[in-house]
Amino acid sequence: MHGFSYRNGELFCEDVSLKSLAEEHGTPLYVYSAGTITDHFIRLDKALAGVDHEIAYAVKANSNLSVLRLLATKGAGFDIVSGGELFRVIKAGGDPAHCTFAGVGKTRAEIIYALEQGIYSFNVESEEELRYLNEVAGELGKIAPAAVRVNPNVDAKTHKYISTGKSENKFGVDFTAIPDLYARAAAELPNIRLRGLQMHIGSQLTSIDPFIEAVEKVIPMVSALKAKHGIEFWSIGGGIGIVYQDSLQSGTPGWWSSKAESERPLTIEKYGQELVPRIKDLGLKILLEPGRYIVGNAGVLVTRCLYEKKGSAKTFKIVDAGMNDLIRPALYEGHHEIVPLIEPTSSELTKVDVVGPICESGDFFCQDRPLPDFQPGDAVALMSAGAYGFVMASNYNSRPLPAEILVEGGDATLVRKRQTLEDLIEGEL
Ligand SMILES: *Cc1c(COP(=O)(O)O)cnc(C)c1O
Repeated sequence: MHGFSYRNGELFCEDVSLKSLAEEHGTPLYVYSAGTITDHFIRLDKALAGVDHEIAYAVKANSNLSVLRLLATKGAGFDIVSGGELFRVIKAGGDPAHCTFAGVGKTRAEIIYALEQGIYSFNVESEEELRYLNEVAGELGKIAPAAVRVNPNVDAKTHKYISTGKSENKFGVDFTAIPDLYARAAAELPNIRLRGLQMHIGSQLTSIDPFIEAVEKVIPMVSALKAKHGIEFWSIGGGIGIVYQDSLQSGTPGWWSSKAESERPLTIEKYGQELVPRIKDLGLKILLEPGRYIVGNAGVLVTRCLYEKKGSAKTFKIVDAGMNDLIRPALYEGHHEIVPLIEPTSSELTKVDVVGPICESGDFFCQDRPLPDFQPGDAVALMSAGAYGFVMASNYNSRPLPAEILVEGGDATLVRKRQTLEDLIEGEL
């Protein structure tokens, strides 16, 4: 489900017209649907019914305070990858005792901050890091709760830049080295409490098979660690893919999401049906770390067309959002459907490149894509921009960061002000 559809010829987010938001707040503009975020959270929670579980939302996907606050009120925990994200979670009213801390490069300051806040678990990515954690915890007179991230060497069959569960990736500890590492930690690291095991094989997985493969591979290991070291949780990570692209391209309302759910290779219900029977009797608390699944389809980036430039080989629609606002297409060939805010009256499509104003050839949102016509002055929505969108935005080309709006029913709240030119130079001497 997502909260975007045409009503009387205008694209709405829940009960709010995107055109009116664009007029009031300007473009480029991120707009999120609170109802969609909540719906996805609840659906995942339901799909896992029958297992003792907790959803630790991966903050890096979208870390706006209002998004975090919304999820905290629904009972989410949080998976963080920096001290900055822990700070955000706390500011949003999240509970550090429901935070897990991932990432290969935690600094001393971050470790101390997280120990002082009393997080649930440090998800450790190397023996060196585990030893360092033991040392810092000892200095503070604390016991650090920890889980090691196992790299199960499973091919997630996703883009190479977002694949993390193969031996050649920098993430986690080799599958075969885990039992000895836990044994050494139990014997030699008095300030570590081995609390769980973690894995995360990649992002935007669109098939259930790699999840099954990884879970089945790790089950005997996690059972043995529970028996030997009394671990209490197993995090099976995030990575659940969403639909960015639909083959159906017509002027039909909602054409970008018109593929029937049943035809999709991976639904959240299927995820639950396949995984729950395999993990429910382990006697472990199962943690999930979804990011994209929760927020991806819950956000759009609204941008206005500035010029149509007819080259000899191509037609370019130049819009006011750039790769600095949404980098997914440039960074990992991410696809975003491009939908006019005013519903096209003709089903005619023309092949165009939609490009931003940044001085980089990689600054495009699509190339040679058949799209309904839109003209300079018209606004379009880049769909499914709720995850890894604003969080990756930068000031490249000295462009102020866009504003963000959270819609809930008929209410639209400005949850981040557009940056001003003064903001651009703040802190510079
Ligand atoms: C990024 C990340 C996630 C979330 O991935 P999604 O694909 O957004 O679900 C979960 N766990 C870890 C350790 C991550 O680094």
